[in-house]
Amino acid sequence: MSCKIDYQPAPNLLENRIVLVTGAGEGIGRAAALSYAQHGATVILLGRTIAKLERVYDEIEAAGGPQPAIFPLNFEGATLKDFHDMAETLDKEFGRLDGLLHNAGLLGRITPFEQYNPELWQQVMQVNINGPIWMTQALLPLLQESEDASVIFTSSSVGRKGRAYWGAYSVSKFATEGFVEVLADELANQPNVRVNTLNPGATRTQMRRTAYPGEDPFTLRTPEDIMPTYLWLMGPDSAGTSGQKLDAQPPKV
Ligand code: NDP
Repeated sequence: MSCKIDYQPAPNLLENRIVLVTGAGEGIGRAAALSYAQHGATVILLGRTIAKLERVYDEIEAAGGPQPAIFPLNFEGATLKDFHDMAETLDKEFGRLDGLLHNAGLLGRITPFEQYNPELWQQVMQVNINGPIWMTQALLPLLQESEDASVIFTSSSVGRKGRAYWGAYSVSKFATEGFVEVLADELANQPNVRVNTLNPGATRTQMRRTAYPGEDPFTLRTPEDIMPTYLWLMGPDSAGTSGQKLDAQPPKV
């Protein structure tokens, strides 16, 4: 499906929507949290580094956005109980969830498979796929309370075609694509909850710098540049789209 980089969102696109963004302290997640708030959403900022989340919180407040909430969580150590406690807290506070952007991600190491450390492999799978899956299961009842809930899982080009040395990261993104197909099919008769994958494409962040240290970051789009597709997929203009694999920008040539 083509990307929506030229999409022009209404200023109040996400008004009255409660949207949770994981990995909201930095990179693409930070830009999404700010952009969603700017378009009217009450954003729940989830991440592992509280100081970063607080900075985003302050930026939203300074810009006059709806008061956000901070939810500290590290996917590495998070248990099922943590996810269910989180669902209970959000239920008490908001009673529903209209959007969930699974954005937090761990690169792991780019290294030949023969040298891949099994503990690091588990860690990457935990942060990129297992944690988000169980969090989604815990939050489904809240999403079902929404009239139009959008769940977005972040993918990658290496989750659609494998590439040498990308190890657990690539495998976790393939798993993401597969899980979304399964869940979207299960939810086919619940049109008020849609679930899709979104590949940001090459974007100027810390993760990209780590993966491609020799690359000139100024040749890349910024997280802010790719927000039109993030807004389209989170908001009502994409209602009816489910089980799709989207791109936030045309492929880098
Ligand atoms: P960054 O490394 O800049 O940001 C990653 C975010 O995930 C940070 O907020 C980080 O928190 C958070 N995070 C990492 N580990 C955990 C954890 N254990 N628990 C909770 N939060 C965690 O990456 P990007 O912004 O580049 O990437 C965002 C998403 O986009 C990822 O899913 C990535 O795989 C995907 N992606 C990115 C591309 C790119 O070119 N940038 C291309 C394709 C896909 P903290 O800041 O506290 O460490």
